[in-house]
This record gives sequence, C-alpha cells and structure tokens, in this order.
Amino acid sequence: MENPKSQRFGNSTLFPIGHCVLLPSVTTNNPGQDGDDSPDHVAARIEQNPSQAVGDRISNQDFNAWYEDRQIEQNILDGKSYFNGPSPPKDPDRHTPSKLLQCHRKASYARQNAPREGTSPEGLFWIGSEFEEQIIVPYLQSIVPDELYVQNSLWIDTTISNDEVEVHLRGSTDPAIVTSDADPVYLTEIKTTTSLDHLTEPKEHHRAQLHAYLYALDKEYDYPITNGLLVYGSRKTLDIKVFHVTFDEVFWHRIIEWMTTQTEYEEVGELPPADPEREWECSYCSYKHRCGEADTPYSAIGHDGLLPLLDEYDRQNLVEYLEAHTDADAKLTPTLAHAHPDLVEEYGAFDWSCPRCDNTYAWECRGLGRRYDGPARLSELPR
Ligand code: SF4
Repeated sequence: MENPKSQRFGNSTLFPIGHCVLLPSVTTNNPGQDGDDSPDHVAARIEQNPSQAVGDRISNQDFNAWYEDRQIEQNILDGKSYFNGPSPPKDPDRHTPSKLLQCHRKASYARQNAPREGTSPEGLFWIGSEFEEQIIVPYLQSIVPDELYVQNSLWIDTTISNDEVEVHLRGSTDPAIVTSDADPVYLTEIKTTTSLDHLTEPKEHHRAQLHAYLYALDKEYDYPITNGLLVYGSRKTLDIKVFHVTFDEVFWHRIIEWMTTQTEYEEVGELPPADPEREWECSYCSYKHRCGEADTPYSAIGHDGLLPLLDEYDRQNLVEYLEAHTDADAKLTPTLAHAHPDLVEEYGAFDWSCPRCDNTYAWECRGLGRRYDGPARLSELPR
C-alpha cells in the first residue's frame, strides 16, 4: 500500500467544510502540568504540593518513555546497541529460527516492518527473559552433572541450499548445556505461557525453532548434536512442563520448504496468501486488519502505510513504524493524529480528503473520521 497522501472520509456533500471543527491547539497527555518545566518553577511546584508533584508526573506515557530510555541504555551497556531503533527490512533469503512455520503473509508483514496493530507485547518479552535468566538458568546449573556447564546462549549462522534457492539462518539459542571447553552437548528452548493445562505436546513452531539450532550446531561440530528440551513455564503458577525433542529429518525438510517458499514470495515482491499455519493464528495476529481477517473493510493491503481511519495502533508500535519509515515520508493519519497530537510536530500528519471531490481538510478537523459508512467508502481509499 502506498502511503496515502491524505485520509478520506464519506460523502463530502453530507459533510462540507463548514462542519469542520478545528482544535484550538495541540494538547499533550500530561494533565496537571502547567507547561513551565524550568527548574525554579518545578521546585516551586514541589514545595507547594509535593505529593501532587509526583502524582502529576506519573502517567502511562511517561512510564513508557522512561522504560524505552532504560532499554536503550541497557542495550548500549550490554554491547547490543543494534537492538536500539528500528530494524531494517529482512533480505528475502534471511531467516530467523523464532519465526519459522508461521503464516507466510504474517511473516512477510513482520519481515518488511509493516505497522503492527494492537499493543506491543513488551511485558511478555520481559517476563520471558526474566523467567529464563533468573529461574531456569540457575535451575539448570543446579542439576547438570559436575563435568558439564550452562551457557546462556550460542550463536548460529548457517546456509541451506534447496534446489536453486539458498537460505541463511541466523539466531541465538536459549541456554545450552556445554562441556568445560564450551562445546554444546544439549540445547534448551524456554517458553512462557498463560497455562500448561492443555499442553500435551510441544508447539510446532517451537519444535521448528529448536530444530534450526540443532541443525546448525550439528553441522558446525564434528559430533552429533541431535537432542534438546522444550521447557514451558506457566506465567501464573511458575510450574514447568518439559518435552524432549530429537532432530527429525522429515520435519526439518518441511521447515526448509517453508523458508524456501517465503524467500520466493519476497524475491518477486509478492504478498503471500492469507494461509495461517494454525487455527488460532489470525485472532492473535498483529496484522489481521490489513490482511483482511478482522471485522473491518480492509483486505490484502501491502506492507507500507497506516490503515486510514483505524485507531488500533498503540503508541509504541506507531512510533516504531514512523521511525522505520522516515525516508518514505510516513506520517500519522488524521485519526491517529487526533489520538496522539503530540506526535504531529515530529512526524507530521496527512490531511483528510474526500473520495468524491478531492477536497482536503486539515487533520485538526474533528468528526470527519467517523462519518464513513462501510466497505463501499473504504474501497475508495488510496491503497
Ligand atoms: S490474519 Fe491470519 S492469514 Fe492474515 S496475516 Fe495474520 S495469521 Fe496470516
């Protein structure tokens, strides 16, 4: 989808420009502040009412900004500054073990940095990494035999040829059991989940991830590395369920076919078909609106552009998308500009426009976005 030059609304004869209500000014989400943050003024405010000064400061937006700054600092401290800022779109031949065997269209949206709908799963990432580092690693250390050790992760980088197509697989494992020379003998893959109740076998994409690591390490070392453990931890009870996984050639071949197909779609710039690998995949998909699997009139939209009139992008996903597309002149849609007016100065906003008469209206006009009336109107939106 090309970036819309403007966001359109319904029949312009019903909603002429005289109905446009301009916002008096851009507001911010920091209620209670008087706008003067000079040190003297802040000190005076604190002195007058210390508890209110703290209370006024605390907000979700402020917390998220603080958390993001902290992550940036931590990544730099860890020598992983490449995690800061948006990642570039993936080359068609590059694959990541954690993204195998999922819907090809979803993979394509994620790989090409299409804007994510809904909320960002930061909390799940944090819990997953804490569970692994603070609980599972010490536990593994306590149970490995004396001659073996636990290593946080191993880097893999391998190339696989399938007929005419060559694919590259890169990533890092979860904790591995290694010898005193740091040679791997056994791998683990740690996952957290809401409940272990109905988990009777490992999930296929998790098996695929572990297979990718086993394949790469088995190829790298001159002894077989064919076994691993998939450990699921309940985020509610902290119970675990463990599955032993042995490398399976037939299953691995299916994974290679998946990577090859994904690469082929991307090499020709084609949006893959909507074909979820698992029944429930669409309901949790971060691209279900642009894909056409939600109750909104969009379908098979390409990788670029925020969906007009849709307000289901959370702030973090939105900023990530805008940051990743600064070269492509990405801007907020008017709907999103109304939801996040403080972002307009930095990223800009498209105007509203009418599909019938090509009139445009400043994004500050209120009320226009709600006046569309279904698929017939939205089919006229720029794609
Ligand atoms: S909504 Fe379903 S079919 Fe569409 S990209 Fe997501 S997982 Fe695939």
